[in-house]
Amino acid sequence: MSKPDLAAQAARRRTFAIISHPDAGKTTLTEHLLLASGAIRQAGAVRARGENRRTRSDWMKIERERGISVSASVMTFERDEVVFNLLDTPGHEDFSEDTYRTLTAADAAVMVLDAAKGIEPQTLKLFEVCRLRDIPILTFINKMDREAQDPMSLLDEIAAKLALDPAPLFWPADSGVRFRGMLDLRGDRFLGYEKDRDQEHPGPCPLAAATNLAPDERAMLVETADLVREGYPSFDLKAFREGHMTPVYFGSALRHFGVEQLLDGLADLAPSPRATRAEVAGQPGEMQPGDRQVSGFVFKIQANMDPNHRDRVAMLRLCSGEFKRGMKLKVQGTGKQLTVSAPVMFMASDRELAEEAYAGDVIGVPNHGVLRVGDSLSETGQVRFAGLPDFAPEILRRVRVKDPLKAKHLKKALESLAEEGVTQLFRPEIGADFIVGAVGQLQFEVMADRLANEFGLEVIFENSPFSEARWITGPQAEIDAFANINKTAMARDIDGLMVFLAKSAWDVNYAAEKRPELTFSRTKERA
Ligand code: GDP
Repeated sequence: MSKPDLAAQAARRRTFAIISHPDAGKTTLTEHLLLASGAIRQAGAVRARGENRRTRSDWMKIERERGISVSASVMTFERDEVVFNLLDTPGHEDFSEDTYRTLTAADAAVMVLDAAKGIEPQTLKLFEVCRLRDIPILTFINKMDREAQDPMSLLDEIAAKLALDPAPLFWPADSGVRFRGMLDLRGDRFLGYEKDRDQEHPGPCPLAAATNLAPDERAMLVETADLVREGYPSFDLKAFREGHMTPVYFGSALRHFGVEQLLDGLADLAPSPRATRAEVAGQPGEMQPGDRQVSGFVFKIQANMDPNHRDRVAMLRLCSGEFKRGMKLKVQGTGKQLTVSAPVMFMASDRELAEEAYAGDVIGVPNHGVLRVGDSLSETGQVRFAGLPDFAPEILRRVRVKDPLKAKHLKKALESLAEEGVTQLFRPEIGADFIVGAVGQLQFEVMADRLANEFGLEVIFENSPFSEARWITGPQAEIDAFANINKTAMARDIDGLMVFLAKSAWDVNYAAEKRPELTFSRTKERA
């Protein structure tokens, strides 16, 4: 395939994730995006598909027991020549570092807010991860069919809490039982909402012709829209692409209202895959989507999809070239070569074998523990993408093995899981205990499960006195001085880097104020 064709293939792709707090409507929206694209025909298919999979019993035991999905997957669907790759960011109890890492493979994000609740804690956390890379964010204010907060205060909350300029593209006519639809602020088109219709709402029409607005409701909408146009910045593509501005959509995912408009927004405004920073043959550079050489990075490992085979599927985000099934790819650093003969592509209808894939696509590469999170793959093996970040854990536990005779094995097992990115491992400078950290509770269960099944180790997690971990960087003498007076709070991570374990966020702030020359960081780029 020639370079321009490769670039054109990449240009029609949109790889994005949805960030939201549990119950804001991510699953419902996903389903209705699939409906809008024609990938599925009826609502309910996304969940039903999940259940089918579970009964096909190729998921982890723990997943079956808890009835939830441990593994993030990718759904690919197409509409009007645009290929959408929706990366699933697990929420609820299965929230984990994978949720964060998935965002490093996305080119854009949709932030779903519950119109009654506004920005909730998990939205904020995920937003901060997007901010690290200035990922462009589209905002979807969901559940307008229910009693909502004043839309202006929702926009002001976005501006205040996220330091992101909200640019409303639509304006709702009320909410809840009085919800009538929304006005396209870029013109005079009104989209009527019919509460009794689950999917079919009237198409756009001139505001003056809207039949479901009473005269006073129309007058009110015109007046508010004028205020909004004056009071908020108009949409600026550059500011959005740089991550400073968010276009705001309103709707009801459940009632399939506003979903088409959001999908149009993804197609028209969200960026296609861009160049990715990389070291190429030892030189700083980048990989362009149109470059001939196939390259990509592993952002997630799905373990034990098939317990009989102990296989792992590495989720590879492609950054350049045309990937073809059967291709050989090399792992940067180790030089190991893999023949990717059975890659998995995640079509919305079902899993399929990938024949070809381009920059922006995600393929699942089955392997037997060869690939790790953060690995760079390419044809030459000479491409190295900047490391995926590690995120400061939010839960820290002390780990002990039940059988003291096996204590020696524990270290190796913990190191192996930490290298794979399942959990983080800290070795306190004083004492013989190991502290493991994770961002989600379920990671400990996954860890216990794998330690038992793969290493034959029964472990106990105990509370640790620490609740925060921060990587410390700065002048060595300063680090040493700090470490000296905080001996009991110092640990090393798997790469030997110095970590401050604190009892509270307050302690971290206090230390940072006292030691301005040191940086106490929540993220660490993987080496
Ligand atoms: P998730 O946890 O973010 O994936 O949220 P779900 O999609 O599972 O939705 C949580 C609950 O909110 C479910 O009961 C949905 O039916 C409901 N829900 C989602 N979207 C809407 C909406 O637009 N309007 C209303 N009224 N309910 C919604």
